[in-house]
Amino acid sequence: MENMQGIVDRIRENPSIEIEVVDGVDDICLRCPHNVENRCSRPGRNIEEFDQEIVDRLKIDIGREIESKSLFSLVEERIQPEELSIICKGCEWLEMGFCEEGLRKKNWWK
Ligand code: SF4
Repeated sequence: MENMQGIVDRIRENPSIEIEVVDGVDDICLRCPHNVENRCSRPGRNIEEFDQEIVDRLKIDIGREIESKSLFSLVEERIQPEELSIICKGCEWLEMGFCEEGLRKKNWWK
């Protein structure tokens, strides 16, 4: 959670920061106990499938670097809040409601 907050703060402080689109574990996963040898070992999860679903919907290539404000604009344009319950089914963040609420209010990264 601390690591996640640090990343969110960095993006909020600098919306022009470049984000590299990756599949699999990412910077948010760095301190997660489920991150085992750079693979997500959490039972019941296949983050590669989650990630592929997202990049398909955003029409963006894995490996691309993009300004965070442009990336979040794409998310707001191409993903509807109610679709998160399908795309992110099984993710514990989804159950907390922050993502859907933030996407609905368009203030999740501001
Ligand atoms: S559960 Fe998996 S995808 Fe989620 S933060 Fe941990 S390593 Fe990353």
